[in-house]
Amino acid sequence: MRRKLVVGNWKMNGSRAVNGALLSGITAGLDDATGATGATLAVCVPAPYLAQCQAALSGGPVGWGAQDVSAHAGGAYTGEVAAAMLADFACAYVIVGHSERRAYHAESNELVAQKAVAVLAAGMTPIVCVGETLAEREAGQTFAVVAAQLDAVLARLDDTDVARLVLAYEPVWAIGTGKTATPAMAQEVHARLREQLRQNNAAAAATVHILYGGSMKADNAKQLMAEQDIDGGLIGGAALTAADFLAIVHAAN
Ligand code: 13P
Repeated sequence: MRRKLVVGNWKMNGSRAVNGALLSGITAGLDDATGATGATLAVCVPAPYLAQCQAALSGGPVGWGAQDVSAHAGGAYTGEVAAAMLADFACAYVIVGHSERRAYHAESNELVAQKAVAVLAAGMTPIVCVGETLAEREAGQTFAVVAAQLDAVLARLDDTDVARLVLAYEPVWAIGTGKTATPAMAQEVHARLREQLRQNNAAAAATVHILYGGSMKADNAKQLMAEQDIDGGLIGGAALTAADFLAIVHAAN
């Protein structure tokens, strides 16, 4: 049985003051004997706040990570952040291929794959996001789109590295819109993704976590995570308040 994984994606939100209150609200909520430790937890934060997370969360039950990374190891790439730098701040996770990066920064499947490789090489876990737009869903292309996104990554990894991936299915039309995929809709895609993994590496398919993301909230998290192939959540808006995030964490128990 895969232990549930709940990851907050703060996106471009926060300040030192706001983050401090949010992180202490989360950790205090986890200390209240609600049994919240049944899931693995993390927050992926804007890069300038990684040091703040490391200071606040070290030794506790909540891990931390970044939202993007350079595909390059280092050098003359102004404005980029290398995987080794993220590892230097003890990041456990790095989100790669979020649909906002794909849409606003023209990230291709191939670039996302290179980023996943960079994260793995630095000893961290890439959270590889895949998902279709509304137009693609309506055109019946959902499975083809997510399969191509995953294939580009699998093509670059050996069996050991495939087993170290986390995937996140985030239908673009559900992100920040309040429209959630129904549990059955999400499960259908998750099952396809796991089958694709299985064809690549049967052992890894049994252990790799596939998260759902897209308007996951306290009131729908339990039903979504009850599905066989939904192993947790990648949470945007509801990760920005401690009470909402904790409610999803509790739903994962
Ligand atoms: P929302 O939970 O705000 O829809 O965002 C989901 C997401 O993009 C997480 O990466």
